[in-house]
Amino acid sequence: MSDWVLRGARVWDGVAVSTVEADVVVDGAVIGAVGSGASAPQTIDVSGATILPGLIEAHAHLCFNAQRDWRQVYDADTPGRMMVRMAGNAQSMLRAGITTVRDLGAPTALAVELRDALRAGLATGPDLLVAGAPITTTGGHCYFIGGEADGALEVRKRVREFVRSGVDWIKIMATGGNMTPGTNTLAAQFRVEELQAAVEEAHRLGRKVTAHCHGTEGIRVAVDARVDGIEHCSFNAPGAIEYVPDLIAAIAEAGIVVSPTVSVASGQWADTERLGQRGRVLRGLLDQGARMLMSTDCGIPGVPHDALAGGMKVLRDIAGLSDVETLKLATSRSAELLGLGDRGTIEAGKRADLLVVDGDPTQDLTALTHVRLVVAAGKPLWPSPV
Ligand SMILES: [Zn+2]
Repeated sequence: MSDWVLRGARVWDGVAVSTVEADVVVDGAVIGAVGSGASAPQTIDVSGATILPGLIEAHAHLCFNAQRDWRQVYDADTPGRMMVRMAGNAQSMLRAGITTVRDLGAPTALAVELRDALRAGLATGPDLLVAGAPITTTGGHCYFIGGEADGALEVRKRVREFVRSGVDWIKIMATGGNMTPGTNTLAAQFRVEELQAAVEEAHRLGRKVTAHCHGTEGIRVAVDARVDGIEHCSFNAPGAIEYVPDLIAAIAEAGIVVSPTVSVASGQWADTERLGQRGRVLRGLLDQGARMLMSTDCGIPGVPHDALAGGMKVLRDIAGLSDVETLKLATSRSAELLGLGDRGTIEAGKRADLLVVDGDPTQDLTALTHVRLVVAAGKPLWPSPV
């Protein structure tokens, strides 16, 4: 379909404090016009709904199944089966209104091929940005995905190899992770020189580096190496989450993008004191002016791929954000921080990535789960009822 209009809805443009009544004209893959009385050959009546920019998930693992048996399933998948799994997970995300996904950990060739296949229209899915396999130490966090490297030279080589393969981002594991037994989540996995090598090489090749960091020591090393982004940013210390004012200030000062990976699973933490500590850290980062986007780490156990809206509610509650502030993180702010100037807001000329929901998510984020229609680069998709 080209040149059609969504009529009768409220529009939240991705930045405003509230919605306005307006029609949205879609012209091919882009937004043609926003306003009242626009005409187009075809009309889709969305009276009573709210149109907002398609959501952006900044930390996903399309290759994981979000269940407890994730590792057995991952190990048992053939490349062909894993590709189908990734495409299926990508589709479930699109049906939930997530039109852009940054995958931060999947076998490099599969991630790149899936991105390209979706862009070529071979299957329906969100637009992907991919990191391929995270760079990690031998036996380090997520080593089984295929990105082991030790020492600055090997790290450089991995960056070159993955860029040659076509990745958009470089992901590096600055600490161990809970999903890889035998790693140390509190300690730094790499030295500053090794992370610096990744940053230098990636920047030379026009890519950015985001570092997985749980323990505070790893965050410090990542900040010292001037990475572009920090995933999780957990500030984990033995038995607690620390509040480290100088490091929080340094992250903000350096302009490092924080990807909070707050999810429905975080919201279910039995240790509410810990959840409160997490919220305090994220609030502190925002208060210091740190740049933050929205992410859930979907694909890990307990975090379904299509549960971004649930994660947004948890982030809103623990970091003390308004509904609109939270929506911005998952739309205009994420687009800006991921370097995607062509999307994230509803205005003429932007990609027609739209989410149409019943109710008004600027008043209550729960409306995000009442999806009526999703538009991906101008293609309308009506999620079938489950
Ligand atoms: Zn992850």
